Amino acid sequence: MIKSEAKRLGFLSCGISKADFLEEEAPRLEKWLKNNMHGEMHYMENHFDKRLDPRKLVEGSKSVVSMLLNYYPENTQEDPEAPRISKYAYGTDYHFVIKDKLKQLLQFIQEEIGEVNGRAFVDSAPVLDKAWAAKSGLGWIGKNANLLSKQVGSFFFIAELVIDLDLACDTPVTDHCGSCTACIDACPTQAIVEPYVVDGSKCISYFTIELKNEIPQDVRGKFDNWMFGCDVCQDVCPWNRFSKPHNEPLFNPHPDLLSMTKKDWEEITEDVFRKVFKKSAVKRTKFSGLKRNIDFLK
Ligand code: SF4
Ligand code: SF4
Repeated sequence: MIKSEAKRLGFLSCGISKADFLEEEAPRLEKWLKNNMHGEMHYMENHFDKRLDPRKLVEGSKSVVSMLLNYYPENTQEDPEAPRISKYAYGTDYHFVIKDKLKQLLQFIQEEIGEVNGRAFVDSAPVLDKAWAAKSGLGWIGKNANLLSKQVGSFFFIAELVIDLDLACDTPVTDHCGSCTACIDACPTQAIVEPYVVDGSKCISYFTIELKNEIPQDVRGKFDNWMFGCDVCQDVCPWNRFSKPHNEPLFNPHPDLLSMTKKDWEEITEDVFRKVFKKSAVKRTKFSGLKRNIDFLK
């Protein structure tokens, strides 16, 4: 019943896991942090225990309900020379769109089942969403560290409800990366340091979105024209040949965004920035951050 309501709300798929300690993830996360692969994302160091155990995050929680929401756009930026924006950031900030759907799903559960308590998460709290989605059978974590599905590729958001309701659990799917190394070979900054391990501090997404200071000179010329995020390791993934355009109107970009030329981006004013990215996640970088990124590509 929960899964069909999730589908009705527009989610691609929904899977369930027991709210428990993420035993396999614990040493991986510890090693990743120890090796400073989070760079200046110091918030990753916080809430280590909560990150690995949702019961510490939501009291009395019994199940994690994970959902995927497609963001693959029908059209991409027209000028092949224009600085590029990651496809997930074209439309309205996904946090708002997904939170709303999660609230509706929780409300549905409460109406149908009775008093159920829980919290909705979308990339907003210490929840290891990919690990939960993989545990719930929604896909496997690929060599590019993204969640992949044979049916829908990887251009989707992941969100969860952590609730105090005991539900039947799903089982994980097998890894279908096989001998492929397309993502590792194509990464412009060699951030995929070994299969399944992305050094976050070397990733273009980190440099263009998370890093508040100046971008280090040693990566100049390596950004493959990305000004906000990077889709390379997803674009080259053979499983993404199955991606189909989303049908969420709120994810459609502002009409000017796709037609802006290289010159338009280089001359962008704060007014244009505000107009084109009115409700977009790109606002996270602020105008000055996006300008810094565009200038870095010159
Ligand atoms: S997002 Fe881009 S920079 Fe980051 S790991 Fe993937 S290909 Fe490399
Ligand atoms: S590009 Fe190949 S190795 Fe990388 S995630 Fe996709 S299938 Fe796996």
